[in-house]
Amino acid sequence: MTSNQNLAGDDPAGYQAAEAQVGSHAARLNSLRAAVLGANDGIVSTAGIVIGVAGATLVPFAILTAGIAGLTAGALSMAVGEYVSVSAQRDTEKALLDKERRELAEMPEEELAELAGLYEAKGLDSELALQVATQLHAHDALAAHAETELGIDPNELTNPLVAAVSSAVSFTVGSILPLAAIMLAPTALKVVITVAAVVAALVLTGYLSARAGGTSHSRSIMRNVAGGLLAMGVTYWIGRLVGHSLG
Ligand SMILES: [Zn+2]
Repeated sequence: MTSNQNLAGDDPAGYQAAEAQVGSHAARLNSLRAAVLGANDGIVSTAGIVIGVAGATLVPFAILTAGIAGLTAGALSMAVGEYVSVSAQRDTEKALLDKERRELAEMPEEELAELAGLYEAKGLDSELALQVATQLHAHDALAAHAETELGIDPNELTNPLVAAVSSAVSFTVGSILPLAAIMLAPTALKVVITVAAVVAALVLTGYLSARAGGTSHSRSIMRNVAGGLLAMGVTYWIGRLVGHSLG
């Protein structure tokens, strides 16, 4: 993480500060979105598990065991999946950056012309494009190429371990809600109270993910709640079927 305040203080032109701010704002939004999605996943899948078991039996020990097993398996599987996918993305980005670094060392002239060409294609006239490219080359050639050609910020590559841990944590936080609701509710109301708690939580995560993505709140909330209700309905129904045929 870069500190915007420090950059702004050291750089009177403010250019670097503004760029760093845009970069870390996007990164913050991304990690907020990842956290909300992880929590949402935890809510829906653990609600499905405990309500599915409740369809077959209301014995608290059975519900708790299934819920904790589901929470653990889900959190670990999220962590592994996130680690693998972020590592692969990071390897790709590193390979692209290495190639760019090599090209910059071996043929700086061609690379300068290439960058100027990209700015020209974005709408600058050729003289200004060359000026911009020349100044950026003097400032941080690799960052300029990475950003313009590859859309990568070389100073903000995602860390796979951080991504893995944070998705496991947000899945766990989400899972605790339906698990707590079903365990604390009186037997006759276990399913109803859990469904109500889950719907309330999904309204919140739907709202937060719409905010993070800058999209329509009501549609995001409705989709999120409908998806959760469907998941709980299906698992409850399957739980009842299994409970009837085996119990
Ligand atoms: Zn290049």
